[in-house]
Amino acid sequence: MSSHDIAADLRAEAADLDAADPLRSLRDRYLTPEGTDLVAYFDGNSLGRPVAAAAEQLQSFVAGPWGDRLIRSWDEQWLDWPTRIGDRIGELVLGAGPGQTFVGDSTTVLLYKLSRAAVDAQVARGRDEIVLDTDNFPTDRYVLEGIAAERGLTLRWIEADERAGVTLEQVRAVVGPKTALAVFSHVAYRSGFIADGAGITAAVREAGGLVLWDLSHTGGSVPVQFDEWGVDLAVGCTYKYLNGGPGAPAWAYVAQRHHGTLRQPIWGWIGRRDAFQMGPGYDPADGLRSFISGTPPILAMVPLQASLDVIAEAGIEAIRAKSVALTEFVIRLADDLLAPLGVEIASPRDSSIRGGHVTLRRNGFREITATLWTQGVIPDYRDPDGIRIGVAPLSTSFDEVVVGMLALRDTIVEFDAADGPRS
Ligand SMILES: *Cc1c(COP(=O)(O)O)cnc(C)c1O
Repeated sequence: MSSHDIAADLRAEAADLDAADPLRSLRDRYLTPEGTDLVAYFDGNSLGRPVAAAAEQLQSFVAGPWGDRLIRSWDEQWLDWPTRIGDRIGELVLGAGPGQTFVGDSTTVLLYKLSRAAVDAQVARGRDEIVLDTDNFPTDRYVLEGIAAERGLTLRWIEADERAGVTLEQVRAVVGPKTALAVFSHVAYRSGFIADGAGITAAVREAGGLVLWDLSHTGGSVPVQFDEWGVDLAVGCTYKYLNGGPGAPAWAYVAQRHHGTLRQPIWGWIGRRDAFQMGPGYDPADGLRSFISGTPPILAMVPLQASLDVIAEAGIEAIRAKSVALTEFVIRLADDLLAPLGVEIASPRDSSIRGGHVTLRRNGFREITATLWTQGVIPDYRDPDGIRIGVAPLSTSFDEVVVGMLALRDTIVEFDAADGPRS
């Protein structure tokens, strides 16, 4: 079969898959600007596309609550936004009951606040080790290195497989009476591997440690059950599969049982009891509010709410089902079209342990990605030789996957032709 026939067949197959997709109508909720050069967006795991309604909602926010109600809006609604939107995220995507999730600072800052709160409580009980893994997202590693230096703690590193991630066996082997805190990503940013959330949580807690999960690559893509698993703490960003926009504020989860006992290190005025009395000395507010430091980033929560409306309409289980179908399709196309060109799959093949993206590896991917970007085909490149095909389930069609993967194949072929035969 000619390359032309293969392409036509694949596009016909994708058209059938799109027609049968129960979430297909929701794709129109995402903005496709007129005149865009976008052909295939494969980076929804890094920056989600905007919901079209976000633009109107930002405009009416400026005219109404901000421009018209002005300072009155703090009392009328804004002070409750961090916990109200947090509850929504908890219910829609985290399996978390109300009063345990809030939206606030960046993921990095929340990671610091929660990790410090956890180790401070645990050091008092003679526990001085933080368990983490070598393949966690850089900010997680750096923040924990900083806390260890600040508090004189020991980092207990797990060597994670870059093509998979941290396993329950590895965690069991290192946790013990010294464990203060263990921090892992639920979906590995590199490979897309899904860690055993329930099993690892139980193992850390049985050892007397606290567990903190980073859900940045999970939230809005892979369902989790925080309350059921007994998770202690968690954080996650909102600009990936939650489509909150660049730099949108992150969320944090603190299990009810830790309210009033864990104390975070940034004692700001909004987290104080009776904040508006502006009294002397810091006295933490009850419940989750003590985890908030200063004035919440209200403006940046507007697009996030527009996106959560679409997620609510779809439901996380349907989102996950489509995500699995999309990544399975990516893997099949990679096997058929790209494996003969030397491309390897560096993500789990088993869908039950693979999140929303597929990582491919090959020499030349840095240059090949740069060429693809000029053509409106947008994966992302990660050293040493990986590209991630991040197919956000709500905004990506099967046809987009075919067109993008064909462009990737053609670009590899051109790269090799220009580069001469590989040695
Ligand atoms: C994207 C991501 C972050 C981002 O942290 P920021 O503070 O928003 O820069 C953190 N952790 C993981 C695992 C991520 O994937």
